[in-house]
Amino acid sequence: MEYCKLQIVAIVSLVLLFPVIDAWGHDGHYIVCSIAQSRLNKGAAEIVEELLPKSAQNDLGSVCIWADQIKFHYPWSRPLHFVNTPDVCNYKFSRDCKDENGREGRCVAGAIQNYTSQLIDSSSKDNLTEALLFFSHFLGDIHQPLHCGFASDKGGNTIEVHWYTRKQNLHHIWDDNIIETAQERFYSSNLADQIDAIQKNITTGWADQVKSWESCSYTDTTCADVYASESIEAACDWAYKDATEGSVLEDEYFLSRLPVVNKRLAQAGVRLAAILNHYFK
Ligand SMILES: [Zn+2]
Repeated sequence: MEYCKLQIVAIVSLVLLFPVIDAWGHDGHYIVCSIAQSRLNKGAAEIVEELLPKSAQNDLGSVCIWADQIKFHYPWSRPLHFVNTPDVCNYKFSRDCKDENGREGRCVAGAIQNYTSQLIDSSSKDNLTEALLFFSHFLGDIHQPLHCGFASDKGGNTIEVHWYTRKQNLHHIWDDNIIETAQERFYSSNLADQIDAIQKNITTGWADQVKSWESCSYTDTTCADVYASESIEAACDWAYKDATEGSVLEDEYFLSRLPVVNKRLAQAGVRLAAILNHYFK
């Protein structure tokens, strides 16, 4: 019995120590969901408030990382956080969106379509709270360039580099390190200030692009395939470039990639809101 308890404590500790290995980290998802919630129209805001667990206190950002935290309980959901291409800089749903057993639609783009369909089907018997949390999380993931990376290196997970003096894999640098380093260096480690800065850019520097980010014909439920295509292009142009095995990534890499990360976070937030606003006006 005692041994069993110890084992449980050990497993829980491990989960707490290494909670996330393959998604925008906590802050990335928080940023995306906060931006989105601030842009919701009345109808969408009410639906979100209704579906959020009470403990979230109507803060979508606070539960945006949930889909990563339940991977142990829902192992079937693991392939839904990403899509890989056969090491080419373009993405095709029919070729790429499948899990390792070849089941079609089991990738981040397919998951976004699926959970959008669940959310808009008023007769749905699915758990709509979970559908909202999965949907909000995957909309963020699909904008992280290395969530639509090459199959051979698992979206940069097997590329070992140095982030300044620390050993790190390339995928993690795009999930967490670029965002964290920016937060420490430019916002006195204050997440709220970092979000404010991105919000401000949405209404100033990117203002003339926001309409095109939001635009989607909705003939295929969402435009997830467009977002995945943008990500693999950004992965080739920015993430993989000059970041081969053993590279030391410092200011030159950080400062030139940070604008890409900020823009992808902004696009994800704007689009998450646009889709919810479209279906729940
Ligand atoms: Zn994820």
